[in-house]
Amino acid sequence: MRSMRLAVAALLWATLVGAGEGTAGRPILITVDDLPIGGGRLHVDAAERERITSGLLAVLGRHRVPAVGFVIWGHVEGAADLALLERWLAAGHELGNHTARHLDYDRTAQDAYIADAEAGRAGLAGFLAGKGKAVRFFRFPYLREGETEAKLDAMRAYLERSGQRNVPVTVDDQDWSYEEAWVRARAAGDAAAMARVGEDYQAALRVEVQAQTETGDELFGRPVPQVLLLHANEVGAAQWDALFAWLEARGYRFATADEVMADPAITAPHRYVNGPGGSLWCRLAHERDSNKARAQVAALLEQQAAAWNRGDLAAFCSAYADDAVFLGQSGLTRGREAVLERYREHYPSAAAMGTLTLETLEMREAWGNESSLLGDAVPSRVHGVSVAARWTLRQADGGERSGLTLLVLLRRGGRWVIVQDASM
Ligand SMILES: [Zn+2]
Repeated sequence: MRSMRLAVAALLWATLVGAGEGTAGRPILITVDDLPIGGGRLHVDAAERERITSGLLAVLGRHRVPAVGFVIWGHVEGAADLALLERWLAAGHELGNHTARHLDYDRTAQDAYIADAEAGRAGLAGFLAGKGKAVRFFRFPYLREGETEAKLDAMRAYLERSGQRNVPVTVDDQDWSYEEAWVRARAAGDAAAMARVGEDYQAALRVEVQAQTETGDELFGRPVPQVLLLHANEVGAAQWDALFAWLEARGYRFATADEVMADPAITAPHRYVNGPGGSLWCRLAHERDSNKARAQVAALLEQQAAAWNRGDLAAFCSAYADDAVFLGQSGLTRGREAVLERYREHYPSAAAMGTLTLETLEMREAWGNESSLLGDAVPSRVHGVSVAARWTLRQADGGERSGLTLLVLLRRGGRWVIVQDASM
């Protein structure tokens, strides 16, 4: 068994090597946030910042990774930090904008946030201009793109007019959260503690990469590229070599931003406006679930209208849950059987029923956040949908009645059912 696996691995390796560099393997873009140094308050000493940068660049060079580093311009302190940025450029990496003050867009007013993003861009652009380079890429701090559609659109418009592209993250991980424990262990000279932190770091990153690889491939039905989020910190300098070797062994190829950003999966549009759930795949999967829920509810309402219009009240009421509640002008009716009875009393004949049309005025999905395997907040499935609609009944004699209804639907046993109906 073992030799069989080795043979397969060798064959795979031969295929990868044989196909030549640049094409074989799944593309992954390595992005490094919080330049010049992540967790900066832990590393105030210029020599230490220099040492960490050297370590990061050495690993990137060893694995021939063309990375994009995202600079928090307000964290660039003096000539020493500018020299660090120079080193990233000299090593062939690209620098992008990570704003001036690293604000959380969901907690910052739109204009103030855009001003900060622009301050970051202008600062970095001034630095790059002398080197014949421009600011092409942007990364949202905390991956928060705005908690309302208006804010989402405002930043997209700003990025467009300033010539920057948002680089989404597909593998959202918590690599930064190991930094403090790592630095503490190193400062104490505690090799065992450093090894433990390193093991945790590797395990967590591997689980995230594997989970997001599955999610992305399932979404698009093909092997899609990935964008990995890392931070410019000391634990990274120590752990990236093993991480990159593992990625290579898994068939990943370190690709350029231009290649990965040209893939339609990475540029797939989304209008996700909820804070948690940083991975693009989570956002797209949620949006897909959301659209599916809406389509299923719309189809259910169409079936209901069709049942009504053929005079089949039992079929019409099959959309209600066993414990559904109907609120009408005459009061409250509990349970599907009672609702059906009420309809039969009010509409004793096909003539009385007339022709029903339901015009959906608004549909809203109810969902929240749940915890991923590693404790990250990710969007939950859509659990409920509410529908505000206008109903119109046209009688054969030309008479017409119309009113409003609010329906609340829940997903039960793999189908959508109406649990509450307030019609007026
Ligand atoms: Zn950041």
